[in-house]
Amino acid sequence: MTTFSDLGLNKKVQQAIDEMGFEEPSPIQAQCIPVVLTGQDVIGQAQTGTGKTAAFGIPLVEMASATSRSVQALILTPTRELAIQVAGELRKISRYKRVRTLPIYGGQSIGHQIKAIQQGVHIVIGTPGRVLDHIRRGTLKLDKLQTVVLDEADEMLDMGFIDDIETILQETPKERQTLLFSATMPDAVKRLAKRYMKDPVNVTINRGEVAVPLIEQVYYKVLERNKLESLCRIIDSEDIQLGIIFCRTKRGVDELTEALIARGYMADGLHGDLSQAQRDRVMKKFRNGEIEMLIATDVAARGIDVGNVSHVVNYDLPQDPESYVHRIGRTGRAGKRGLAMTLVTPREFKLLKSIEKETKAKIVSREVPSLADVAER
Ligand code: ADP
Ligand code: MG
Repeated sequence: MTTFSDLGLNKKVQQAIDEMGFEEPSPIQAQCIPVVLTGQDVIGQAQTGTGKTAAFGIPLVEMASATSRSVQALILTPTRELAIQVAGELRKISRYKRVRTLPIYGGQSIGHQIKAIQQGVHIVIGTPGRVLDHIRRGTLKLDKLQTVVLDEADEMLDMGFIDDIETILQETPKERQTLLFSATMPDAVKRLAKRYMKDPVNVTINRGEVAVPLIEQVYYKVLERNKLESLCRIIDSEDIQLGIIFCRTKRGVDELTEALIARGYMADGLHGDLSQAQRDRVMKKFRNGEIEMLIATDVAARGIDVGNVSHVVNYDLPQDPESYVHRIGRTGRAGKRGLAMTLVTPREFKLLKSIEKETKAKIVSREVPSLADVAER
């Protein structure tokens, strides 16, 4: 099977997909969509950027009844940004079928959300904390729920949502369909699947191959005290459309953001201490290209899917291979090429080598450009 029309989708859904510019299903979509449509439980594993959202989004919209007034599907995502993003993609898919979708997440007025739910929604996309909050208040009724999706399950568990997820699942009908999507399958995710899924069909794309092949990966050896200067030379020597720069801490994000702005870069920072409105504003500017460089912590950048991220920079080395893979997965989305650049100090070199080994990646050494190199451009 190679085309969407082979899937025999509702005309309205097909038209929406055409307008989204999706010409053919990605491998995870081609394999998952027909199985999800049969009502079976599915575990879908594929690298970031391979189209997992539509792999469950398309069949969910296809199966939803626009005339019903009840919530038919619930999608749990690890972060607010991701809830907004997944909701955005589902809104596009459901455009003509008029299935109503709603993102609910912390940091946004609960009153607004309650009103929106009361107006009738078919698919709710939310972060576990806020969803649970609504369930406890009795403002989100899940008794007619048909499908639950655990999106980016590895990240949700990483972020400590296991108890919330289990409580939510216990509030849903026993005969529900459960779908789980994840880039990686650590034991905690397998345990969750075992406890809450019924004979799931496993769909795995590129098993064992963790890194995303379209992403070129390089590292620069730098001295701690020269880090900022080196970073500036590196970004000046690159043709950056949009870049995400990762720091280890919130304070690191603030400091680097200030330093870059002071040097005239169009940059802004994103981390968990900002209010929701501030975060939304930063993401909007980044998407619009009003800022070229987003400085972020791991958590803030999870799941962010902005199409034209050409470069990811690890200003601070990630703590572990998973984090490295998640970070670099912010570039090279949907078949575009991307460059991941990692700054490494001499004492971190061993850690970089172990990340390289565990991710089976090829991270190639590059020299920090000299001032002369930068001036030539
Ligand atoms: P994942 O959840 O696997 O990390 P996403 O669902 O966020 O990936 O998809 C990554 C990007 O690819 C999104 O911008 C999405 O719109 C795009 N995309 C998804 N499916 C297709 C397709 N069949 N054709 C073209 N682009 C697609
Ligand atoms: Mg995803």
